[in-house]
Amino acid sequence: MFEQHSSVNCSANRNNIDALVSDVATAPVSALLAESKDFLVQRSGASLEWNPTTGTPSYIEGKLSKSMPGTPSQVSQVFLAGSLAVLGLSPENDEEFSEIDSFDWGGLEFTRLQQTNQGLPLLGAEVVVGVDAKNRVRIVTSGLRQQSAAKRSDNPIPLEQAKQIASKDLGQDLELRSEITHKTVFYPTQQQYVEAYHLTIPAVIPMGDWEYFIDVQNGDILDSYNSMKSHSFYFAPRARVYPENPEETPLATVMLRNVKSPYKQLDGEHCKVINEDAPPAKADDNYRFNYFPGNTHFDECQVYYAVEKVYQYFLDLGFRGFTVNNPYGKANNGQLAANVHIGTNYDNAFYRPSTGQIYFGDGSYPGNPHGLQDLAKEVDVVAHEFTHALIDEYRPGIFGSEGSALHEGYADYFACSLTNDSDLGEYVVPSPEKPGVIRNCDNNLRYPEAPSEPHARGRVWAGACWDLRKEVGKEVADFLIFGSILVLGTTSPTFKYAKDMLLLIDRYWCGGEYRETIKRIFEHEREIPV
Ligand SMILES: [Zn+2]
Repeated sequence: MFEQHSSVNCSANRNNIDALVSDVATAPVSALLAESKDFLVQRSGASLEWNPTTGTPSYIEGKLSKSMPGTPSQVSQVFLAGSLAVLGLSPENDEEFSEIDSFDWGGLEFTRLQQTNQGLPLLGAEVVVGVDAKNRVRIVTSGLRQQSAAKRSDNPIPLEQAKQIASKDLGQDLELRSEITHKTVFYPTQQQYVEAYHLTIPAVIPMGDWEYFIDVQNGDILDSYNSMKSHSFYFAPRARVYPENPEETPLATVMLRNVKSPYKQLDGEHCKVINEDAPPAKADDNYRFNYFPGNTHFDECQVYYAVEKVYQYFLDLGFRGFTVNNPYGKANNGQLAANVHIGTNYDNAFYRPSTGQIYFGDGSYPGNPHGLQDLAKEVDVVAHEFTHALIDEYRPGIFGSEGSALHEGYADYFACSLTNDSDLGEYVVPSPEKPGVIRNCDNNLRYPEAPSEPHARGRVWAGACWDLRKEVGKEVADFLIFGSILVLGTTSPTFKYAKDMLLLIDRYWCGGEYRETIKRIFEHEREIPV
C-alpha cells in the first residue's frame, strides 16, 4: 500500500480523454466494412476484431503479408502504407507513421508507430506491428480513429500564454520542480483533432508531472492530468539508522517512508519528530538526512524510522491511526509526535496522554554507571511507548493498578512481537555493568506472586501473551491481543477482564478455536483468576 496523495483529487486531474475513449459504439462505415471483408478473404485464416469506440479494427491477426525484404521496421511501414483503407485511413490525407519504439517478444519483432498529420502527432493514434522471422506481418493492433479531420491553426496564441493558463489552473501555490517542457500535437475530440500545446509541468506543489493540452487557437484547456505514478518514490528520503538497536544491528541506510512534501524534514504522514535541543533535521539536496550517531539529528532519523515501522505494523492489524482521542494526532491527521533529547541525561522514555506525544531521554550512562544508554536508539523502546499511545487512542483514561499493569504488559508484548525478540532494552541497559535487558517477555511469572507495581505485574500479562504467541503463532496472537484492547469495556480493567476480552475476540472472529489454549495459559499456568 502506498498512501493516496491529495494530488489524486486535485481539480487539475481532468482526464477528459476518458469520455472520448469510453464513448460507446462508433459503427464502422460501410466502406471500411467492405475493405476489411476483402482484406480477410485474401488472407485465409486471418481474423479481425472491431473496436467499438473507434469504429476501426482493434487488431488484425494472421498471415497478413507475404515475406518482404527489409528490417521489421521497414516491413511494418510498407505494410501500413498498403493497408490504410482497412485501418480506416484515407490515402488522400497527409498521413504518415513514424517509428517510436521496437522490441521483440514471443518470436515476433514489434514496431510501434505514431500516426502523424502535417508533421504533428495525432495523440493516441498509434499502431503496433508484429513481424515474424520470415518477415511476414502477423499482428497489427491499432488505436486509430476513423478518418477525422485535423487542421492546423493559422493564428496560434503564444506558447508563453499557454504556460500561464496552465500555471494559473494549478493554483497560486504552484511550485515548479524544473522547467515546463512542451510539444505541439493534435488532441482528439469527438468532432476532429485540435492543434494543442502539450505542456509538461513538473511541480512540487501540487505534487505531480502535470500534462496540459491547451487549444492553440483560443487557449481552452482541452485536458489535463497527472502523469506521475508513484510519487512516494519520486523523492526518496534516506537516513542512516540502527534497524533495531546499536548492539544487535549495524548502521544501515534506510528509506524514510511517507515523508511529506517537500521531503526534506522529518514531518510525515504518520510521524513528526521534535528535537528538544536543536532546530529540525534537514535533508540535503539529494534527500539524504546525512547524520552519523554522534550528531544531535541522528536520533530524529532513528525515531522517525521506528515510529513509521511501528505505525505500519499496527495499520496492518487494523489500527485506525491517532485520529480521534490523541490530542496531537487529532489536530494533525493522525500524526504521532515524537520528541528526542528530552531533559538532560534523562534515563527514561514516556508517553504523555495530555499531549498525545512520546518522549525519549538520552540516558545518563556512562557518566552514571548505573544509568541507561540513549533510549531513542532502540526500536523496541519506541514500540513500547507507541503502544501506550495506541491503547490511549482507543481506550483513554485507563486507571487502577491492574489497568496500568495491562498497559505495560501490552506495550511490552507488542514491542517484542514486532521485533520478533522477547528481550526488551538490550541496548538501553549497558553491559557488562548489568546483564542485558530491562524486561523479558519470555518468562514464567505467575499472577499471584507478581508485585503490584505496574511494570512488574505487567510482565505476567506480557509473558502470558508471549506464550500464546508461541502456541498459535505471531499473526493469530497479534490479532487476538490487538482486538482485546479495542473491546475493553471499562476504564479500570483487571487481568481477568482483559483475558475475557481475548476469549471474546477468539469466539467471535475465530469460532472459539483458541479458547482452551487461552484458558490453559492465562488461567492455569499464569493463575489469572477464572
Ligand atoms: Zn511503559
